[in-house]
Amino acid sequence: MSKIARRDFINGTLMAAGASMLPFKSTSQEVMAALKPSYYPPALTGLRGSHPGSKENAHSQAWAKQKNWGSTTNLKEDYDLVVVGGGLSGLSAAYFYQQEHGRDKKVLILDNHDDFGGHAKRNEHKIDGDTRLGEGGSESFEYPHEFSETVLNLLKDLGVDLDRFKTAYDADFFTRHNLGAVTYFNKRIFGENKVVKHPFCDYPGFVEGLLRPTLSYEKAAKQSPLSEKGKQQLLRVLKSDPKTLKAPKEEWQQYMRTHSYFDYLKNTLGVNDPGVLRMARHSVVDYGGAPDVMTMEEALESGALGLNYFSWRDALNEVGSDGGYIKNTNTYSVKEPFIHHFPDGNATIARMLVKKMIPDVGSGENVEEIVLSNFNYAELDKPSNSVRVRLNSTVVNVHHGGDPYSSSDVFVNYIYDNKSYQVKAKGVVMACYNMMIPHIVSDLPTKQDAALRRLSKIPLQFTTVGLKNWRALKEMGIGMAMSPGNMHQAVGMDFPISIGGYEYTKTPDDPCILHMRCCLLGETVGAPRIEQLREARYRMLGLQFRDYEVEIREHLGGMLPKDVFNFDRDVESISVNRWAHGYSYGNPGAIGRQPFGRITIANSDSVNSSLLNRAIEQAWRAIKELGK
Ligand SMILES: Cc1cc2nc3c(=O)[nH]c(=O)nc-3n(C[C@H](O)[C@H](O)[C@H](O)COP(=O)(O)OP(=O)(O)OC[C@H]3O[C@@H](n4cnc5c(N)ncnc54)[C@H](O)[C@@H]3O)c2cc1C
Repeated sequence: MSKIARRDFINGTLMAAGASMLPFKSTSQEVMAALKPSYYPPALTGLRGSHPGSKENAHSQAWAKQKNWGSTTNLKEDYDLVVVGGGLSGLSAAYFYQQEHGRDKKVLILDNHDDFGGHAKRNEHKIDGDTRLGEGGSESFEYPHEFSETVLNLLKDLGVDLDRFKTAYDADFFTRHNLGAVTYFNKRIFGENKVVKHPFCDYPGFVEGLLRPTLSYEKAAKQSPLSEKGKQQLLRVLKSDPKTLKAPKEEWQQYMRTHSYFDYLKNTLGVNDPGVLRMARHSVVDYGGAPDVMTMEEALESGALGLNYFSWRDALNEVGSDGGYIKNTNTYSVKEPFIHHFPDGNATIARMLVKKMIPDVGSGENVEEIVLSNFNYAELDKPSNSVRVRLNSTVVNVHHGGDPYSSSDVFVNYIYDNKSYQVKAKGVVMACYNMMIPHIVSDLPTKQDAALRRLSKIPLQFTTVGLKNWRALKEMGIGMAMSPGNMHQAVGMDFPISIGGYEYTKTPDDPCILHMRCCLLGETVGAPRIEQLREARYRMLGLQFRDYEVEIREHLGGMLPKDVFNFDRDVESISVNRWAHGYSYGNPGAIGRQPFGRITIANSDSVNSSLLNRAIEQAWRAIKELGK
């Protein structure tokens, strides 16, 4: 326990250091301009994502309906545009605005976090003098060759060469080191700590190059720490195919679309073993998890337990599906490989957008050149900038100077360091979580207000762990481990990418980042998804760093061999990126995202999407709607 306290203390110190770097001055412009070069949030570890201090004001606003924020200081700052939310959509909106109206236009971007980028956040881990990069959230381009012209043009402006990833992503890494997808069963839930060299699901398939299992279903089921009945049921699930459906072939697709995955497991395959049902429930991390309330089609597209693509593809609706696996080789391989990934994920795109608009923030002229660039955050909010990024600032009110449809001014109030400030703009783009907008924008039309309130968000957690070496993973052949007994349902090596002077880990003796993924589930299996999301979000926000550390210690300590892995010796740092408001859930529709006077709405939420390309497209639409 003493070691836990020590590390808790280490991370606690870092968090406190980050906070204490914010000097207490009377106006925000002085505060931000006075940030020391040591203010560098990507290097903070501990609780990240929805970090302490980022969400309290918004929650007072949305939950406690707080209206009185004390006296407000009018900063007498006039902008052409204020953008609420400094994620990829907000940053793109600022960039598009200047592109449309001129580089001299004055833009202010406000964000409640201590770093810009929204979900696209950079995690840095310093390990024995070596800086390892990882993604705290948004990680890759998905199907970039299907991106719209708007998105491709922006990426081109930023210096992104899509073909570059074919060589930068080292797909052979896993083969060279014999690393595959496995399952880790823990003692607490399954009675013993055991690694079986089979993932039992297709979730790891998105990691290009990761080795497929060679163990037969029979052997893998036999090795699993389940009862005899459970092993038989697991085998039945693994060997399932559409012929088990009570439907003729021509109705398979429709059947998959209208029938529940868990009903299929329980009623068609007769699964009642709690271990097998738990494996099924934990086999989906993306797409918002919760296979217990998914249709069979959703479960199949998410790679859930037993729904193996090669057995089930005849029942898959390829139109609009995730693409599917195209080769039955020894590695996973999808129609368009998931290789378009920077070492810090899509944070590189956020950083490059900032660099384009605030050139003095750091060195580098394109996405590759900024990978290793150490940004100076003191440049972000200088009065001399035409674009200013103001962090740690939660917007609580946006209102027109008069009638929304004739007024030429919009006032924006935000809270920084518990004090209230006001700025003025000719137009505002709300690029924040869309369900917050009714709590912020005064006098929204009733139907629009209601449409925006229908939105929710899926909580997600991406934890990055700075490891001094990965000898234990090499010895166990683990590229990714599905972990149905643990909080993080999947843990694995980060993507093997070397670009812009950054070199991916080379040998098992070198430091690396371990990526742990968690899509939080509700306690009640089968409860409506919206209830599960809410419950999981509250639970997530109630945990302290030490709770996560205890969990991660148990996870890695139980999974990896004790003679090779020692948590206290081998783990350097942990960043728990909690996204209480992760993927969009619900659609505001055309009414929800319509302009309101001089206020327009961006963010990928506005089209019910959780994709970088949608975030950019919605920024473009919002700027176009703003007009002159
Ligand atoms: C864990 C995770 C992994 C993901 N992986 C991928 C991926 O691999 N590929 C992909 O394409 N997409 C991925 N996404 C989806 C991601 O949402 C998009 O890629 C994109 O980053 C969304 O950008 P955005 O600007 O629309 O929203 P956000 O990134 O959510 O930005 C909105 C910003 O507004 C801020 N804000 C909210 N309220 C206020 C307020 N009142 N005042 C001030 N600021 C406020 C928020 O805090 C946030 O910083 C992932 C998302 C998550 C959570």
